[in-house]
Amino acid sequence: MPYRGRLAPTPTGRLHLGHARTFWFAQQRARAAGADARLILRMEDLDAARCHPEFAAAALEDLRWIGLRWNEGPDVGGPHAPYEQSKRQEVYLEVWQRLRDGGFIYPCARSRADVQRAAQAPHAEDEDAEPIYPAEWRPPTGIGREISTPGQANANWRFRVPDGETVAFTDALCGPQAFVAGSDFGDFLVWRRDDVPAYELAVVADDYAMAITEVVRGADLLRSTVRQILIFRALGWTPPAWCHAPLLLDENGKRMAKRHDALSLTALRAGGADPDKIIATFARELAK
Ligand code: GLU
Repeated sequence: MPYRGRLAPTPTGRLHLGHARTFWFAQQRARAAGADARLILRMEDLDAARCHPEFAAAALEDLRWIGLRWNEGPDVGGPHAPYEQSKRQEVYLEVWQRLRDGGFIYPCARSRADVQRAAQAPHAEDEDAEPIYPAEWRPPTGIGREISTPGQANANWRFRVPDGETVAFTDALCGPQAFVAGSDFGDFLVWRRDDVPAYELAVVADDYAMAITEVVRGADLLRSTVRQILIFRALGWTPPAWCHAPLLLDENGKRMAKRHDALSLTALRAGGADPDKIIATFARELAK
């Protein structure tokens, strides 16, 4: 099967150097996979309150400026259009229905703030850890099967994780990974109360529909990968291969993405930066 990778920017702001480095790395993976490899750009603009069309347009421009090219995407079309998540609601609804029918998900009136208050953060030192949904709040299996649309529940929908099971995968860059369901991560969101599909559901639905063979993204999403593996399994689908790139840190060892002043590509471009020099620094780092 020819390699199919993807670039999946979220247009909630300007892309910065950390994004550029991860996307450039994704392009390198695709190039290394041979002449028939394809790279897909998918705009992850599901959250209408936080995503803006001008950021989406800027993302495409900035990525082109830094030298990235894609074979399918919102601006170039392709066999799996539309490539904007905001236009793919039916794809997500179908996945939601299958998960509901299989008893894998349930509606839950508790808010994320409730979970935050009730839960002990599992590993304080791990900044990607989320508070664990308390298992005693879970309704019995089968609850929600009679609900015909996710919005009808007026509740968050969560995926019931197999408590105690170690979910493992081998990452092309980070090596063997393992997270224990119920202690490293808990029941996670698949559809939000405001009737927006959650990231984990949308990304699995799209990576499957777009026939992605390898997911390349930042290492902050390692834990999301095991959630996504559970969704793939529930649907009876084979997951793609995984490759998580280490995140770009600033001089104080802080993640670029978490800094408000992280250098945006737009600012670099406006300031006359040379994109080839930027790429050369990525390539040097990779060679280390
Ligand atoms: N859209 C996500 C982000 O910008 C990336 C999701 C993914 O690659 O799976 O963080």
